[in-house]
Amino acid sequence: MTNDFSGTLSKEFILPTNRAVGASRISENADGPCIYLAGNSLGALSKRSEKLVQEELHAWATVGVEGHFDHHPHGRGWVKIQDHTTPLLADLVGAREKEVACMGTLTTNLHLMMNTFYKPSSDRYKILCEAKAFPSDQYAFASQAHLHGYDPKEAIIELSPREGEYSLRPNDILDVIAREGSSIALVLFSGIQYYTGQLFPMESITRAAKEQGCICGWDLAHAIGNVPLSLHDWDADFAVWCTYKYLNSGPGGIGGLYIHEKWDDKKTQYAGWWGHEYATRFAMPPTFSAITGAQGYQQSNPSALATASLLGSLQVFKDVGMMPVIRERSIKVTGYLETRLVQSKFYVPLAEIGSRYPSGSKSSSTPGFTIITPSDPESRGAQLSLLILPSGSGVMQQVSADLASYGVIGDKREPDVIRLAPTPLYNSFEDCDRAASYLDKIMQTLV
Ligand SMILES: *Cc1c(COP(=O)(O)O)cnc(C)c1O
Repeated sequence: MTNDFSGTLSKEFILPTNRAVGASRISENADGPCIYLAGNSLGALSKRSEKLVQEELHAWATVGVEGHFDHHPHGRGWVKIQDHTTPLLADLVGAREKEVACMGTLTTNLHLMMNTFYKPSSDRYKILCEAKAFPSDQYAFASQAHLHGYDPKEAIIELSPREGEYSLRPNDILDVIAREGSSIALVLFSGIQYYTGQLFPMESITRAAKEQGCICGWDLAHAIGNVPLSLHDWDADFAVWCTYKYLNSGPGGIGGLYIHEKWDDKKTQYAGWWGHEYATRFAMPPTFSAITGAQGYQQSNPSALATASLLGSLQVFKDVGMMPVIRERSIKVTGYLETRLVQSKFYVPLAEIGSRYPSGSKSSSTPGFTIITPSDPESRGAQLSLLILPSGSGVMQQVSADLASYGVIGDKREPDVIRLAPTPLYNSFEDCDRAASYLDKIMQTLV
C-alpha cells in the first residue's frame, strides 16, 4: 500500500470487467476494468476487504465458537470486532469514539433514533426534511408521524427548491427553521441529497435548528466517506448511515449511528444484550445495564463478516490519510469530470434549459444534458447528477444503456437523471475523460 495518493488506488480494488458488465462495444479491452462510476450506490470491493472476510471464514472454520474471544487466529475476537471499525468511523464523522456505534442497517437505525429523539408534543410535533428524500427515509418519516397519531401531510414539512431550480438555497432552509422552528420537533436532512448530489450546509442547519430548540439529526448515507464531517463540534444530536456506498463495505453492509455525548444520560428504551456493559454481558445478568454512549444502543451481536469487510476498506482510508486527503483528490477528480462534460456541445447550462427545452415541445427538441448538482465544490461531494434532455422522452434510458455498452457504469434514476460519481479512491482522471467522450459520442448518434 502506498501513501502517495497523487494517483488512483485502483490496484487496491477489484473492479468489474467490461465483459462482466456486458460492455459489448469494448471488445479490445473486454477483461480490463470497466469505468465504475457507481461508488455512490455500491462501492467497489477492496482487496483488503476480500482478505479480511476470508480470514473470518478461516477463523470460523478453524476455531468455531472459540473465535469470539482470544482464540481468534487473526486477533479480532468477534465479541469486540467493532473496536476495530468504531475509531475509524468516529474519525470519518468527526465524533468521539463513545458517540459512535457500528451496528444494524440504515433504515433500522433511523427508526431507532427517531423512536428515541422524535418526541412530538401538541405544539412542537413537525419534522422538517428535504422534498424527495430517499424513499426509505420518506416512508420512515411518514410511519413515525402515524405512530404518534399525526397525518404525515400535516406533520412533515418537505422543502422543495424554488420553481425552476434543482438545489435548495441554504438561506431558504435557514429561513424556514427561523420562521417555523417553534413547531418543529425534528430537523432531519440528508448530508448529501442522493438525487441531486447537493451537499447541505450541515453546520449552519444544525446551528439554526438548535437555536430554535429542535432536535437535529442527519442521514449520512451519501456523505460518510465522501466529505469531511464534524458532528460533535456542530452539536448534531444524532446521525445514521450505511457503509456500502462510499465506504465500500459490500451489499447490505453493516450500518452505523452517532449520538452526541450530551445525551449520555439518556439510556436506550430498546435494550438488547449487545448494548449491555461488556464486563458483565456474558454473566447474563437479569437486568440490563447500558454501555454509556452510542454503543449502549446496540441490540444484536453484529455480523463479523460484514464488519471485517467494512474494516478492510476503512484500512485503505486510513493508509491514505482519511478525509482531508481523500476530499482534496475528490474535488479535483469531480471537477475534472465536470470540465470535460461541459465541453460537450450537447451540454446545456442549467439556466438555459427553460428556454431551450420549454415543457410541451418534447418531441421536437434535440437530445442534450445539463448538470443539476451545484457547481460550487463546497456544495457537493463526488457525485454529478446529469439531467438528460428532453425530460421524460426516453432519451435517458437510451443514454444509460449506451453508456453501459461502453463500460461506463453510472446509475440511472427515473425519470431523467444519470448519476456519475468518480470515487477518489479508485477512479482516475482518465475514467472521467473517457466517460465524457462516450457520452458525447452517444448523444451524437441520437441527434
Ligand atoms: C442508500 C440510502 C438508504 C438505504 O437504506 P438501507 O436501510 O441501507 O437499505 C436510505 N436512505 C438514504 C438517504 C440512502 O441514500
